[in-house]
Amino acid sequence: MISISTTKKAHVKGSLPGPESRRIIDIGRNYEAQVQSLQAPIVWKSAKGCIVTDVDGNTYLDWTSGVLVTNVGHCHPKLVKSIQQAAETLLNCYEFPTEARIDLAKRMVEILPRHLHRAFFLTTGSEAVEAAIRVAKKYTGKYEIVSFFGGFHGRTGDARSAGGIKRIKEGYGPSAPGFIHAPYPYCYRCPFKSEPNTCGFMCLDFLDTTVKSLSTGSLAGVIVEPYQGTAGFIFPPDGYLKELEKWTQKMGMVFILDEVQSSFGRTGKFFSLEWEGLTPDLVCVGKGIGSGIPISAVMATDEVLKNLSDGDLGSTFAGNPFACSAALAVIDIMQSEDLVNNANKIGKIIKSCLLEIMNKSSHLGDVRGRGMVMGMEFVKEKKTKEPAPELVNELILRCAQNGLIIGKVGIYGNVVRVAPPLIMTEDEAYESLEIMSKCIMELE
Ligand code: PMP
Repeated sequence: MISISTTKKAHVKGSLPGPESRRIIDIGRNYEAQVQSLQAPIVWKSAKGCIVTDVDGNTYLDWTSGVLVTNVGHCHPKLVKSIQQAAETLLNCYEFPTEARIDLAKRMVEILPRHLHRAFFLTTGSEAVEAAIRVAKKYTGKYEIVSFFGGFHGRTGDARSAGGIKRIKEGYGPSAPGFIHAPYPYCYRCPFKSEPNTCGFMCLDFLDTTVKSLSTGSLAGVIVEPYQGTAGFIFPPDGYLKELEKWTQKMGMVFILDEVQSSFGRTGKFFSLEWEGLTPDLVCVGKGIGSGIPISAVMATDEVLKNLSDGDLGSTFAGNPFACSAALAVIDIMQSEDLVNNANKIGKIIKSCLLEIMNKSSHLGDVRGRGMVMGMEFVKEKKTKEPAPELVNELILRCAQNGLIIGKVGIYGNVVRVAPPLIMTEDEAYESLEIMSKCIMELE
């Protein structure tokens, strides 16, 4: 690995958690409903760009973007300024149009492919998913929704029912009626034991058989992630999503693309749908659109919206002027700083170094992804592919101790999330890769 990092930005003194972090975590243990256990024991104090500072004064490079949110970097000065101005102007306004909301709808329609004519703003990704499913049902007058094993669309009603991860569903009783699940192309662990180059998308044939066998004749829509984030950054083979879209159209269903985490430059295109020229009827957007301020969106064709009645999509904070101003600033920053290109450039450096590390490691079984979003899947042995979640737990701690914040995802909890802010520089990328490489080699 070529190292060009000059001035190091990550500094951690002593062992983690530092005294102040420990003090705050201990108080939290007594009062918080749930202790966050998936991450390193660090209490964040502030963050700027790609650097996080904890309450003990330690600094870390961030490979999480706070769960793929701060695409323009933490506390980007232009975003902060626009938030300050918006806060002094208008914080809330229910149902009345505001200039910020209308401007944002126009900008969103302009940056998306032409067939998506309209935008509606909400607060969270789950809400956007719920709204998109409601639209599909109202438009078709039907109720069945096809979704995928490993899918994650949120923890609320229909979003949870559409999901396909055991730990999100277990213990909460049955899913809503009408959800039909089929396998997603998780090629590293193909359920059909096939290879992506030769399988001819066997999983699509299986999907067709499943849906035709299980449907009661009320097929409304398909909801799919362009890559499955929570399941472990599982990227479908090229061409799969286009074929799925064609199948959806052939079946007369609404095609909902859940871009809550894949949009706003994350994959090296503004929207992930651009990679294969997809033409979904509905697109759910979240996370990166506000880059830290809660806002989400549903983008839709005129056609699918035609059966909606007034107020069908409403919510207290829907189209909140403060959040809309933030999203407008995010779009400006993304465009003026050409962050989509930076995501591609830095993402390529990161991926090629991670592939080098994979060749040297006996536990890093797969590195996959594009742009600035990748997954590193860890296994006990490459031959058996037995998941190694404990190793990932240890890696999270070691990386933090050396100044790199990573997160863990995956159906088996054995995948490291690689999702730095899109503004990451080459120096920051190499510095973080050095830390990652050192920590993985220590675990060999
Ligand atoms: N869809 C996808 C693809 C997501 O990754 C997430 C969040 N991880 C959601 C929906 C739900 O978003 P939120 O947590 O903002 O409700």
